Amino acid sequence: MNALGFLTDELNKIREAGGYFRLRELESACEPVSRVDGKEVINLASNNYLGLANHPKLREAAIEAIRKYGAGSGAVRTISGTLDMHMELERRIAAFKHVEACVVFQSGFTANAGTVSAVLGKDDHIISDELNHASIIDGCRLSRAKIHVFAHGNVEAAEEKLAALSAEPGRKLLITDGVFSMDGDIGPLPGLCAIAEKYGAIMMVDDAHSSGVLGRNGRGTVDHFGLHGRVDIQVGTLSKAVGVLGGYVCGTRDFIEYLYHRARPFLFSTSHPPAVTAACLAAFDLLESEPERIETLWANTRYFKAALTAAGFDTGRSETPITPIMVGEAAAAHAFSRALFEEGLFATGIGFPTVPQGKARIRAIVTATHTREHLDRAVETLTRVAKKLAILS
Ligand SMILES: *Cc1c(COP(=O)(O)O)cnc(C)c1O
Repeated sequence: MNALGFLTDELNKIREAGGYFRLRELESACEPVSRVDGKEVINLASNNYLGLANHPKLREAAIEAIRKYGAGSGAVRTISGTLDMHMELERRIAAFKHVEACVVFQSGFTANAGTVSAVLGKDDHIISDELNHASIIDGCRLSRAKIHVFAHGNVEAAEEKLAALSAEPGRKLLITDGVFSMDGDIGPLPGLCAIAEKYGAIMMVDDAHSSGVLGRNGRGTVDHFGLHGRVDIQVGTLSKAVGVLGGYVCGTRDFIEYLYHRARPFLFSTSHPPAVTAACLAAFDLLESEPERIETLWANTRYFKAALTAAGFDTGRSETPITPIMVGEAAAAHAFSRALFEEGLFATGIGFPTVPQGKARIRAIVTATHTREHLDRAVETLTRVAKKLAILS
């Protein structure tokens, strides 16, 4: 008897809905043109915004760290797994972000889930944008606080929730993504900070897609909007533009010390291997010394979007390098993605439940390392295949 047989039925339902996928295998470094499943393809499917994932300085730093410290850290941070380099990276990020202190987690996911669940408890309230990342949602659930979801990007709707809770006991946390990962729009931080202050709520921003992308030298949305000192909890990732792996949380010294004592992924899961931390440090050197990478990223973004719009595509409400190309039904988006791949373009199809029903799309992410020739070829391929599949008329 197969006790997990019911999962075969579930998988068949996923197949019938057109949502079934096979994992594609990257057979080269993550580059603007990568080798995937035996094919050279233009890669518009990574979060490697600045091309740092395979940068020689990051590679060298990682190799050097392995020579000095070995492959693994040997323990969780609170036992014996805190390397001097881990502390150096945290100090480095805190200085970069103009905050008192920083803690690095194994991933952006664990940073969000571990922080929200450590700070709040069951008598508290979370006011959360409906499109916030899954790791925020899981953190909210783990905290057992009451969750109040507001309409996406809508400051008035968030304020209504806060106003309705103003007589309730318990702490309030107002939380938003800095950049939303499926639509590429920017959260309304100035308005949210104002209402957080008005109602005495804790303000938290997840800058996963804005770290290295928005703000001076990629300092994120708080810097982009000039809101230094007004966001209590800033989360960022080291896995996307920074090119490596990890998540970080920034704030006051006592808040970070508290997370050292109470955030469960920090306490109960092994720390980053030396190569990861050394490569992250090298990435911050590059963010500070070569800000022109970020300018190139934005120039490529504007160029690519203008060409897509001219070709007749709908790129939704994106304001960043995350470029959705709206298709409609999930099955059509996945079929579009597969046909693009056959023509040498790697761009992910995304459907329900990651995005709402009827809002399926291709998500293309431009990087600083794509050339104009890559982008021209990408737009030509998208247009040709979309016409063939009657996505464009
Ligand atoms: C990618 C992402 C995360 C998770 O970051 P990882 O470092 O990949 O775990 C968290 N929040 C948002 C908004 C993201 O887009």
